[in-house]
Amino acid sequence: MSRLRIPYSRQSVGQADYTSVREVLESEWLTTGPTIDRFEEEFAGVVGAPCAVAVSSGTAALHTMFSAFGVSAEDEVIMSPVTFAASANAVLYCGGKPVFVDVDPDTLLIDPMKIESAITTKTKAILAVDYAGQACDYSALKIIANRHKLYLLADACHSLGGEYLDMRVGSIADATAFSFHPVKAITTGEGGMITFSDPTLAKRARQFRNHGITTDFREREEKGTFFYDVSSSGFNYRISDINCALGRAQLKRLRSCIDKRNEIAKKYSKHFHGHPYVLPLVHLPEVLHAYHLYVVRVSNSGGLTRDSLYAALREHGIGTNVHYRPVYLHSYYQRMLNLKSGLCPNAETAYQQILSLPIFPTLASSDISTIVSTIDEICARLAKF
Ligand SMILES: *Cc1c(COP(=O)(O)O)cnc(C)c1O
Repeated sequence: MSRLRIPYSRQSVGQADYTSVREVLESEWLTTGPTIDRFEEEFAGVVGAPCAVAVSSGTAALHTMFSAFGVSAEDEVIMSPVTFAASANAVLYCGGKPVFVDVDPDTLLIDPMKIESAITTKTKAILAVDYAGQACDYSALKIIANRHKLYLLADACHSLGGEYLDMRVGSIADATAFSFHPVKAITTGEGGMITFSDPTLAKRARQFRNHGITTDFREREEKGTFFYDVSSSGFNYRISDINCALGRAQLKRLRSCIDKRNEIAKKYSKHFHGHPYVLPLVHLPEVLHAYHLYVVRVSNSGGLTRDSLYAALREHGIGTNVHYRPVYLHSYYQRMLNLKSGLCPNAETAYQQILSLPIFPTLASSDISTIVSTIDEICARLAKF
């Protein structure tokens, strides 16, 4: 638990969640049972996808997704560096290579204009990362993917519940990965989901999450057979029915959680409109934002920097965070991929300035007032020195 008075994120768990989890605990199946199927069906319905496969984490979802599309040794996957390390790690797990393309400075979403010059004969897919909960420019990405015969895949760990034009995130790309970590839109404790437009790939993903075995335990039980075949490579990426019971109850509140996040974002945006030191990222009109994060850029002025604002807010008991240090600046990727700073200037400049302010459905109006007035007071004080 955070010792901060206002954390940057907090999950919402209530009575309906306890009831749902309890039902599963009292049932016959704690894992590989019917609650997983229900959760997958309901989730697919909510995002408008033909099928969904639940796994043990968002990272497992990304790995399973890349694997289902056959990403393997030497294959390149184009992505933004303004993302969590897992987006790149999942490509590396497959033996592939993440290729980083710079972002638009207004939104920190991948800049479609910069993608084509990064495409090579080895490029297999483009990974759209819906940073902060705002959908990428899927129209532009689809045109590029079609023109070069690439898969368009999505890391929607931030954007569950979001929309682009009239399309729901999860039904736009060839496949989409989600996370149910407690800071995300809905939680299962740990968990993830992949939606596919092609059911054959979903079948492959189900096999991948269970050691590459063709049938699961429940199917064999029902058929009265012990025989199974391991017919492809796989992992134990199964999610339990206990986790899915929590997910099913949480999913019912998704819409209201996204509405709440948008209300909070609106209050922040109204306050920071024309602010001398704090500039929110741009919210595109064609997007229904899921507001996983509310990200601002902090101007350097006197003693005011992103770092000094972060530290001063902490002293006031207000938690903020930085999302993200460009992936390739971490020492592991510099070593592994032989990448150096300067690769994506917009991402690197943003990294010095960005701060994610508290946003979660139960954040009180009075807390928002406290946060913005504390920020104003700190900015005015520090900017003078
Ligand atoms: C949270 C997150 C992940 C990983 O999800 P886990 O459930 O923590 O494994 C991947 N990509 C992005 C952009 C995320 O925010």
